[in-house]
Amino acid sequence: MDPNAVTDGAIERRFRGIAVSRGVASGPLQFLGQQFQRPRTWPIEEGEVQADEARLHQAISETKEQIERLKEKLLERGADHSEARVFDAHLLVLEDQSVINEVIGRLREERLNVDAVFFKVIRRYVDSLRQIEDPYLRERAIDIEDVAGRVLKNLSSDEEAHADEAPAHVLYASDLTPSDTVGLDRATLLGFATELGSFTSHTAIMARALGIPGVVGLEIPPGFLRSGQDVILDGYNGVLIFNPSAVTLVEYDRLASQQEALTRRLDELREEPALTADGRSIVLSGNIEFGHEVAMVKRRGAEGVGLYRTEFLYFEQGCHPDEAQQTQAYGEVAASVNPHGVIIRTLDVGADKFYADGRHAEPNPFLGWRGIRVSLAETDVFKTQLRACLRASAQGRVRIMYPMISGIEELRQSNALLDECREELRSEGVAFDEDLEVGCMIELPSAAIMAHQLAPEVDFFSVGTNDLIQYTIAVDRVNERVANLYQPGHPAILRLIQMVVNAAHDHGIWAGVCGEMAGDPLFAPVLVGLGVDELSVGPSQILRVKHALRHLDSGECEALVADLIGLHTVDEIMQRCRDLAKRCYGDFYQ
Ligand code: PEP
Ligand code: MG
Repeated sequence: MDPNAVTDGAIERRFRGIAVSRGVASGPLQFLGQQFQRPRTWPIEEGEVQADEARLHQAISETKEQIERLKEKLLERGADHSEARVFDAHLLVLEDQSVINEVIGRLREERLNVDAVFFKVIRRYVDSLRQIEDPYLRERAIDIEDVAGRVLKNLSSDEEAHADEAPAHVLYASDLTPSDTVGLDRATLLGFATELGSFTSHTAIMARALGIPGVVGLEIPPGFLRSGQDVILDGYNGVLIFNPSAVTLVEYDRLASQQEALTRRLDELREEPALTADGRSIVLSGNIEFGHEVAMVKRRGAEGVGLYRTEFLYFEQGCHPDEAQQTQAYGEVAASVNPHGVIIRTLDVGADKFYADGRHAEPNPFLGWRGIRVSLAETDVFKTQLRACLRASAQGRVRIMYPMISGIEELRQSNALLDECREELRSEGVAFDEDLEVGCMIELPSAAIMAHQLAPEVDFFSVGTNDLIQYTIAVDRVNERVANLYQPGHPAILRLIQMVVNAAHDHGIWAGVCGEMAGDPLFAPVLVGLGVDELSVGPSQILRVKHALRHLDSGECEALVADLIGLHTVDEIMQRCRDLAKRCYGDFYQ
């Protein structure tokens, strides 16, 4: 028996993590392990060799069928044949007879289980390809690992082998990279549970966008995790419960009905305006990572899209989408949210948003080659995106926003490239909105401090609190070990937002907030009191924030801010925020 296997049978076990997305999910766990990893190794008898050879052939043919099915699915979803070609490359790997012969030869010689032999042979191929300084061959190494991972999964006899066909499930992973989430089958996802991450990590943002519960920062003993186990994932309290008892199930049923009742009440606000009780209007828009999420943003009654994280379009394709593909993607979003419009944030790759092939890997990625720095270095890629944004503006209202601006030079260089694109399109006779507004994110302390100088060069600011907080307090936004130090209520953060809003208003432009702080109803009074004009929040938070706004008095919010600015500790600030939230909309803020 596996020494790490669960031995406490049906005894309920609870593990605590960080609650990052509300809701409760109950269902079987699916453990997303790293697929191409060393399998268990054991010796086999001579008489078993033939059976292992048959296992290998069987696993290879199952893998081929799975890849064919994936390819068909992709084509059905409207991908063109060039996108589906990657699967042809994967099929070729499986047809390479020399690899299969080598595995069989070594199996007969070494008499180890075929999984282990297969892994060793492939590992050697992959390692030697990686030594060669040729990007094509390096990509082949990734293809081979991917396919080999599938074969290993099909060779493995336990339940995890067939997780692909799993019905609705709670997904557990050490971490979910942006590229992992691109490939997930959302229809069967009940919730996310991960070991790494914090409130503003990509997994958390994704869980909130999908409106499913999320818990990160979980520490589960090795060997405890088995696909297929029944779990409850509590995204309110940050708990993952294995083998829930009958009492626990009843308790969670009750919680689910309470939440359904609250959700029904919130739904009634869909068509209502985002106004404070005394009539101050705040633009309430939605954040999206994928074009299809716009439907959810509209269903929840938001006024357009305040942050379209376009990097996910690049991750979906694994390469740079061309101008026509981008124009189509952005144009569809713009047309569907008319007349409100979409704020397209130009590519923000790097740091926590990286390509699957690790091309942006760096020792200190949050302080490295990221966001506008990449765009200003790869101007062809940047201009393709800018041209696509401009062209999309002929289909609906589009605004462009630059990420990670640290000072005026980057802003001016970006605007100069945008002007070049405008000029090109004019001379090509291509239509675009001549009045298209351009803004920048304020997510670095240097930009907040320089807001007065940046304001005359843009039409709006949008404060990215996710990064602003991490760079101001020096707390990694995705590191669960320092998650308790990640504090939106830090007095320095309030002061920086105040500086930004004041600078914007002094120069006659508007200022919004699109970081996760905007989606937390606890901070709605502070942001209203600071004079923020727009809040752009994850789709699942839209109605909760609208509810909060409609129960606030803007004068009282301003008085609160006047009070908070005089305070020096996070605890005092948070206590005041909680008191006001409880008094005004206690039933919804918990
Ligand atoms: C932010 O930093 O607050 C933001 C909205 O951008 P992202 O989370 O995509 O880095
Ligand atoms: Mg950011």
